[in-house]
Amino acid sequence: MKIGIVLVLFIALFASGTSAQQRCSSAEYQKAQLLNDPSLQNKVKANESFTKNAIKRLRNVRAKLDGSYVIRIPVVVHILYHDQSDDVSDSRVMEQIDALNRDYRRLNADTTNTPNRFKPFAADCNIEFHLATSDPHQRYTNGIVRKYTPIKTWEEDDQMKFSSSYGDDAWDADSYLNIWVCNINSVLGYSSFMGGPKNVDGVVISNSVFGQSGVLPSYSKGRTTVHEVGHWLSLIHIWGDTDCGDDQVDDTPKQSTYTVGCPSGVKVSCDNGPDGNMYMNYMDFTYDACMNMFTYGQKERMRVQFEPGGSRYSILFSKGLDEPLYYEVPVPDRPPTWLHPQVFPNPATNEITLDLSYDSRWIGKTVNLVNLQGQTIKSIVVNSRIQKIDISKFSGGIYFLSARRSDGEIIREKFVKQ
Ligand SMILES: [Zn+2]
Repeated sequence: MKIGIVLVLFIALFASGTSAQQRCSSAEYQKAQLLNDPSLQNKVKANESFTKNAIKRLRNVRAKLDGSYVIRIPVVVHILYHDQSDDVSDSRVMEQIDALNRDYRRLNADTTNTPNRFKPFAADCNIEFHLATSDPHQRYTNGIVRKYTPIKTWEEDDQMKFSSSYGDDAWDADSYLNIWVCNINSVLGYSSFMGGPKNVDGVVISNSVFGQSGVLPSYSKGRTTVHEVGHWLSLIHIWGDTDCGDDQVDDTPKQSTYTVGCPSGVKVSCDNGPDGNMYMNYMDFTYDACMNMFTYGQKERMRVQFEPGGSRYSILFSKGLDEPLYYEVPVPDRPPTWLHPQVFPNPATNEITLDLSYDSRWIGKTVNLVNLQGQTIKSIVVNSRIQKIDISKFSGGIYFLSARRSDGEIIREKFVKQ
């Protein structure tokens, strides 16, 4: 990596006001997945050559790729929350769906900010997004799954996509766009890639930028999700993820790297004068208020995925927006109480049991037994999910079990010694 790029990245991280959150890590994610499983490389290549050939073929025989029909995509939003502050309301979900439809239909009020030199390239992609009305079992749904999780922060490692790791399983990716909204640590969002495994297909969005009323003002128009869904529909960053790289789209100018903040005027790089960089494209890293267009070339690339043989063809046959066959009473939305430490018996005489079976990551961590004066009377290292602790030598009174993990998870449980 060139020093210049490192410097730009550094500035991007700090200028964004998110201190350490990168805008998007889809390219890095794809690279890591391909390293991990080289067999994916062939699938990615096959998808890319399908895309290229289909665009060439269809462009010549008909105008279908110009968007003569509206593509409707069923969406499921998986909201994972640990604290109240992580929770995302239904109205924020609606704001996000509105933002997707606004930008993919070019109904955004800020089309007026598209410079005249690029206006002829700006496209209504004729793609719409709707919350699912029918789940994979054809049961009633509002398209939103809200789930308490003992995990406080997430990494870009797909753990949020599995119930077995306290996330939520994907709905059939052949029929739904899966969006996971959670407290992700270092990035605003990332997307799966064409040819990737089905069980991790979809986009992950930080709850700080989901919807249009998140906590980061520079990213409050829902365009992190617009950008990530662009990747999900096969788009590549506008600079091709390398210096003057290729995004496989003809009508986006080459540019040297991503754009930081909110520029104005013509910025020339990679001999792309006189028009310069298309930094207002949704597939750049510009602030939300300063991006406002997809091009016809990007539209073609996305829409060709819905042709026979394309990576999203099956979505056209989804039952996700049908009338459900079954209506069931929804389960009340409450944090399940078993996902917390249990201490018993309480009061106790000789021994207490600390049940940590909800989260094996406590094994190897230290738990302190503290008296009412705040003094640690005993420390133990957890070696079992059902941990027995001898308290026979304690004098009678109230004590606390106290522990803290580096990811912020804590234990604070009271017990009485008789
Ligand atoms: Zn991206």
